[in-house]
Amino acid sequence: MLKSRKKLILIGLVLLNMRLISCDSEGDSSKVSKTQKLVTEEKKSAEDFSKKLMSKKTYKGSCHCGRVRYEADIDLSVGSGKCNCSICTKTRKWGVIVKPDAFRLLAGSDDINDYQFNSKTAHHLFCKHCGVHSFGRGYLDELGGEYYSINLACLDDVDIKELVNTPVRYMDGRNNNWFAKPTETRHM
Ligand SMILES: [Zn+2]
Repeated sequence: MLKSRKKLILIGLVLLNMRLISCDSEGDSSKVSKTQKLVTEEKKSAEDFSKKLMSKKTYKGSCHCGRVRYEADIDLSVGSGKCNCSICTKTRKWGVIVKPDAFRLLAGSDDINDYQFNSKTAHHLFCKHCGVHSFGRGYLDELGGEYYSINLACLDDVDIKELVNTPVRYMDGRNNNWFAKPTETRHM
């Protein structure tokens, strides 16, 4: 009788112990999964944030006849430019500036003509055959030295949504006031 009572108490203690352990481990595992969830969420938001900061993509561009072809790494979220200077007006240029290491000419080095005027800082390059200005290049201290200017209208694989969401900065090049917005921009 005493033996079986001892046995019952022992079984009771074992069960209680098991319950405590299971409670503890349940508590721990939920804490762990909650922490893991938080870490995953934080990691995801950090990744989204850095993606927003560095959303550089490689786009392919070309002239109309396709002889001049290039590839450029562009972050369209950084913004683009429209200018009212004499040449941008006539070519209706909508451009983005990239550094030389973000530009690769794939074809057409012999099919390109160069046009320069005034201070001759910029090379307004165009295809000899179809006349389209798909990109240009130049050197300007204000732009950090050597640069390539990509004509957004000549990108072949850009999504219209991406173009719609690209911020546009208007420049009053006509009055040599490149860092100011012209009084009228609706026609640009
Ligand atoms: Zn061409």
